[in-house]
Amino acid sequence: MRNDFLLTPIEYLKGVGPQRGEALRKELGIFNFQHLLTFYPYRYVDRTKFHKVAEINEELSFVQLCGYITRTELLGEKRSKRLVAHFRDSSGTIELIWFQGIKWLEGKFRGDVEYVVFGKPNEFKGRYSIPHPEVDIVNEDSIKLQSSMQAMYNSTESLKHRGLDSKGVLKLQENLHALINKNIPEILSEEIIQSNHFISREEASKQIHFPHSANLLKAAETRLKFDELFFIQLRLLRQKSHHKTVTHSFVFSKVGEYFNKFYKECLPFELTNAQKRVIKEIRTDVASGKQMNRLVQGDVGSGKTIVALMSMLLAIDNGFQACLMAPTEILAGQHYDGLAKMVEPLGIKIALLTGSVKGKARKQILSELEDGTMHIVIGTHALIEDTVKFKNIGFVVIDEQHRFGVEQRSRLHKKNHIPPHVLIMTATPIPRTLAMTLYGDLDTSVIDELPPGRKPVKTMHMTDDKRLRMFGFIREQIKLGRQVYVVYPLIKESEKLDLKNLEEGFESLEREFPLPDFKISIVHGKQKSDRKDFEMQRFVKGETHIMVATTVIEVGVNVPNASIMVIENAERFGLSQLHQLRGRVGRGADQSYCILMSSHKLSRESKIRMETMCRTNDGFEISEVDMKLRGPGDIEGTQQSGILDLKIADLVKDQQLLMMARDIAQRVVDEDQNLDLPKNLPMKNFLIQRSIAKTDWSKVA
Ligand code: ADP
Ligand code: MG
Repeated sequence: MRNDFLLTPIEYLKGVGPQRGEALRKELGIFNFQHLLTFYPYRYVDRTKFHKVAEINEELSFVQLCGYITRTELLGEKRSKRLVAHFRDSSGTIELIWFQGIKWLEGKFRGDVEYVVFGKPNEFKGRYSIPHPEVDIVNEDSIKLQSSMQAMYNSTESLKHRGLDSKGVLKLQENLHALINKNIPEILSEEIIQSNHFISREEASKQIHFPHSANLLKAAETRLKFDELFFIQLRLLRQKSHHKTVTHSFVFSKVGEYFNKFYKECLPFELTNAQKRVIKEIRTDVASGKQMNRLVQGDVGSGKTIVALMSMLLAIDNGFQACLMAPTEILAGQHYDGLAKMVEPLGIKIALLTGSVKGKARKQILSELEDGTMHIVIGTHALIEDTVKFKNIGFVVIDEQHRFGVEQRSRLHKKNHIPPHVLIMTATPIPRTLAMTLYGDLDTSVIDELPPGRKPVKTMHMTDDKRLRMFGFIREQIKLGRQVYVVYPLIKESEKLDLKNLEEGFESLEREFPLPDFKISIVHGKQKSDRKDFEMQRFVKGETHIMVATTVIEVGVNVPNASIMVIENAERFGLSQLHQLRGRVGRGADQSYCILMSSHKLSRESKIRMETMCRTNDGFEISEVDMKLRGPGDIEGTQQSGILDLKIADLVKDQQLLMMARDIAQRVVDEDQNLDLPKNLPMKNFLIQRSIAKTDWSKVA
């Protein structure tokens, strides 16, 4: 087994050299043989099929013809200069057109030989032509080519200039595959290969680029997708198992005074069964002596905060400090206000620490954290800073995790001599397969039940021409004593325009809802934070009726009396964002409404989003639709993780394979966490090899 073969720099491959090597590195990130081998085709064309010229229609994305070139001519001047070859088979004629490489092609075609032409037909005014087709003389070679499915590769303009279009890349794959013979090590155990009837890694690597049949292609895809998913799961599950068996943390052995008193005397409501279950899961974790890493998923409004609070009380009962980190100042502030009120009767010291807490106040908090008089601190990123030192932090809560990176998580771990327990709460549910991949190293709890008495929010979709009706509806509701949010999208690239939108919207609302009967607050990201707070507070206290805002209100804001959410330009929001926004209402006893305003013309995708929102309030269901629409890579929070850099597997389409990979990885870890058994050696070698390859790669890059 020669592992280093795959790490050979790409320029040493026949047909590459320094210049093309540079281009491949820059354009496609292909540094070595391994990278080229895993540069998979995006599709295949069936070159076993031949078409007739007369059959060509717009449904055929590629055609393969066999016939004669009757004559060629040069047309046009300068930039529109082109070579046109007239091609004929028994059914008719078609033009083949080249705008580039004319000099080289001119005079090359002969009238007396048969050609195979392959390309993408183009329709113009009812007539077809084929721009830049592949043309081969019919001989044994071209017949060999035609007897299999041909791989198509993505390329770039700059690569095409160097002769590396799809066909050029295919040629490189050919050169690489000529060297492969027994150079591709097996990376799964024989046991896994046998019991799942997988083809070998080497065979799969060949078939994916040069499939002999549709069946073998399928087998190759399955094998390579499995490998990709399996090693992610293996890594995550080994990490998880490592936490459980190796990483010690503090033992919260007792349920003490604070927890009990709070439960008996301060809890403003009965916990739902789901909340009770999750608190129990956490209690078991923190009593175990191993570090807890638990993710709590729950829909908006399912009551994650109280679960976090009670867990923190448990920490304090056992002599530790706790902190809660939120992604924005507003949210941290809200958490602080709510929690401080709830724990007041307990005599617990709790503080808010954000970027805007400065000077003396900040010093005071920092010193109380360090000497241990402060029990709980709530804050933003500011908590991670090195200046924040704890006497004895034992429990960390991270709210709305997807906005924090893994790196930030690990900095919190370092705030005590052994890592504290970590509880992560997601803002919105994410699909199961995504959670399994993104948070696969964590234990998961789900709060799958809303507090009783909630009336599901009624959602309607209205086009802009129904605006007057919408205003009428709002007016009625305000007269009934309710409050209203009107939200505008904010997209970074066009902030100015968005702000203008918001301000115009504000003005038209002021005309529609004039003083003194109606009062309006406005909040957006460009305001100073005291201004923002002031406007926010007016609305929270019920002094204003309407809150006009950008998505700054998206997370966490809690105003139970607000029962209407109007979302302007709803088509510009993603599903999870719409769902988050809708979660701001429906928190009180009254029937709540969400009105999605959009223009009349909607893309297919926007339509599905609107329909989904009107159909269901279930965050998990919505997240599944969202992932199907946008792909897992676009789901908020996945980009920075890098974990979804999948080359061939697809978390939407390959869910079953993912489950299978996870099961098998779990079995491996259960039996042999360190991969010490001889049968698991190929897997161990691969992991070692890969970590070497990664460091090598970063040296070059
Ligand atoms: P989220 O899960 O979105 O963070 P919160 O923790 O903010 O939800 O809770 C939403 C609202 O529901 C809060 O006003 C909270 O006080 C209330 N709440 C939480 N749990 C219950 C419960 N068991 N019964 C009644 N109300 C509850
Ligand atoms: Mg919350």
